[in-house]
Amino acid sequence: MRSDTFVELMYRRLHGELQTADYIGWADALLEQGCMLPEIAEMASFAFEQAPDAREVERYFLLCAQQLGLRVPQDEYQATRDHWAQTCEQILDGRVGLDDGVARLHAIDNDCGYHLMLPWNDLSDYDGAVHWHDQRRQIAAEDINRLGREAYVRLLTRQFAALCRLPQAALPACFPDVWHCIACGHEHHRATDTAQRAAPCPGCGAPDTLKNMRYLENRQYML
Ligand SMILES: [Zn+2]
Repeated sequence: MRSDTFVELMYRRLHGELQTADYIGWADALLEQGCMLPEIAEMASFAFEQAPDAREVERYFLLCAQQLGLRVPQDEYQATRDHWAQTCEQILDGRVGLDDGVARLHAIDNDCGYHLMLPWNDLSDYDGAVHWHDQRRQIAAEDINRLGREAYVRLLTRQFAALCRLPQAALPACFPDVWHCIACGHEHHRATDTAQRAAPCPGCGAPDTLKNMRYLENRQYML
């Protein structure tokens, strides 16, 4: 059973954008897809009521989610990462075009300023030729010039989906705006907006295991 709409619903629910009618519409769509769960039929039947009780609909919704084995995220960031991951997967399987998908990822972020979104902002900087005039480094430029934009964006999409699927605790705070040692896990907070991709680790002393996580190839070590 497709649960695309469910992930989107969960995101909108935690962002306070969900109406009672959206829940009912979700149940209705499942019915049409052949879902036989009595609770789903019960929920869809709220559509016949003039003013369905929002709390009652929500209660049914949570019951249905439980019956269907769907995870209901409790925090906004989790719901955002689920929605990002699913959008990436839709890009990768061709259901959503590349540039349309990238625009959707930015819309999901909704200017919340999550650090995880940084690689996509670096791509936007490249696309907008931002930074050339003010001497700041355009992080994605070298890799895009080497790989070609489409191949780069596809790699980024695949990687981002996997990063979003990791438990939040698996990544350092501020990731990927951080230097992280792939040998000892040491985190180092200094500017990542630099051409330098690796450095000696102050934690374990290894010569080049402290990686600048702004770079695509270094983030692969986290997966
Ligand atoms: Zn180290």
